[in-house]
Amino acid sequence: MEETRVNDAGNMSDMVEKGLVWFRRDLRATDHAALYHALQRCRQVFVVFVYETELLRPLPRVDRRVEFIQQAVTALDQQLWRLKNSHATGLHEEQSDNPFVSPPILIQRHGQSVIEIPKLAHALGAELVFANHDDEPFALQRDKVVSGHLADIGVGLNTFKDHVIFERRELLTQNAQPYTVFTPYKNAWLKKVTTFYLQSYSTEKMAHRLAIPSDAIEMPRLDLAALGFQPSNLAQLALGGGSSQGERLFTDFLTRIDVYDTTRDYPAIKGPSYLGLHLRFGTVSVRRLARQAWLRAKAHSSGAAVWLNEIIWRDFYAQIMANFPHVTGASFKPAYDKIEWENGAVAQQRFAAWCNAETGYPLVDAAMHQLNQTGYMHNRLRMVTASFLCKHLGVDWRWGEAYFAEKLNDFDLASNNGGWQWASSSGCDAQPYFRIFNPVLQSKKFDPDGQFIVRYLPALAPLPAHLRHTPWLADAASLLDANIILGHTYPQPIVDHAQARAATLLRYRCVNSSAIL
Ligand code: FAD
Repeated sequence: MEETRVNDAGNMSDMVEKGLVWFRRDLRATDHAALYHALQRCRQVFVVFVYETELLRPLPRVDRRVEFIQQAVTALDQQLWRLKNSHATGLHEEQSDNPFVSPPILIQRHGQSVIEIPKLAHALGAELVFANHDDEPFALQRDKVVSGHLADIGVGLNTFKDHVIFERRELLTQNAQPYTVFTPYKNAWLKKVTTFYLQSYSTEKMAHRLAIPSDAIEMPRLDLAALGFQPSNLAQLALGGGSSQGERLFTDFLTRIDVYDTTRDYPAIKGPSYLGLHLRFGTVSVRRLARQAWLRAKAHSSGAAVWLNEIIWRDFYAQIMANFPHVTGASFKPAYDKIEWENGAVAQQRFAAWCNAETGYPLVDAAMHQLNQTGYMHNRLRMVTASFLCKHLGVDWRWGEAYFAEKLNDFDLASNNGGWQWASSSGCDAQPYFRIFNPVLQSKKFDPDGQFIVRYLPALAPLPAHLRHTPWLADAASLLDANIILGHTYPQPIVDHAQARAATLLRYRCVNSSAIL
């Protein structure tokens, strides 16, 4: 059954006095499902964000994601205040770069949500708590506990879809099963989508119901130091700033979206949107992005159609995680858990070389430098480096998945897991196990002049372009001219492609022995 959105005035007879909106991975004030529903139902709406100690504790003390979140929360606080006061003051949301610092409206806590949310709901006298769905295993478990504690004090937890266009079991096959193959899923997605699913959850008209807590409620503004973290290079990378930065990136991308299909695979070119980080933390609305792409695709923009496809991949992996939670930790296809990966010192050395960008394959190494230095890695390179780890170095994909999880700014459990299981062939709609990317051919095809390579490996810049993909094939004179000593200034390849390929086909024999022998 289709969900309905009542008009902005709300049904006053259903209204309660006080509600609390709990922000999580949705750090924006506009087009926000939970906030919209809270503003509809409650005369006074309080807002809270909890820095979850359990999630923050294991992280390194310098972490771009934490800094991004802290800036996004600060920006959200001001955005909410402006929204509340926009009618009274004439200030509008677009003016969010205004240097004026508003009084706090967003309650901030550093602790465990399972304790903080019920405590706060009780202290505020809230009758209902509103939040958006988060289907990661940790979040589901946490929400179950919070919901139980809230029920104990007579408070309801209402949750809503916000992070994706279609979630959980909204799209099913004719046999009423979740889709496990992308193309039919995409077709079903495109068939079902209408303006209804892409329309904004408009919060502006009801924002006067946002409430400022009484003095009895502590309103700390938590900076990075208060959270126990130090600044990263987020500012140098111009990644901070919350939703206004996300909006700027999207505006910029809209000038390029029509050529996305022809530029997206070349890491040296500004082809993709770089919105992954904002989608991850909800500083942009996926509905707004998908709506623009969908409308442009309908107007025959092939670039927009391909980009919309990527947004659909994101939905696809989110529903895979929701419907097949065993994928966190195990192969989607159980037969792939029989693979015997390298272990012991060999695996450790190979993994360290991969992490430290010392494999001797320039495209792989440049990509790993990009990840280590910026927290971003181009999609083509995520595929190449992930494939290289499993299918050239024989290292368990879960090691790579964990490394990306630690380093990626846009780390998203469902998409990262989906990407790794795709590369290792263990996933639901993965590339076949016998398809093994040749890192040199990938390099020549997608970075033909080695422009991306030399951005991150400047030592290789003096080589002629065609040798930047394979410095080990350069003659002695070219290496001397370029001041390169292989094994010293740049590593020798740690594995030979042909040998690695043969070893991988053997390793994967257990998943489909009849296909190989
Ligand atoms: P764009 O090309 O502009 O795409 C727009 C958005 O579409 C992305 O921001 C993302 O939300 C979504 N998207 C694009 N491609 C995919 C995809 N293949 N699967 C799911 N969603 C996609 N994406 C993440 O968001 N988080 C991850 O942790 C992540 N890990 C990955 C690991 C591996 C091994 C691989 C192969 C891919 C991974 N991806 C991940 C998917 C993809 O690489 C990134 O979404 C993309 O590179 C982000 O850059 P962008 O925002 O400029 O992308």
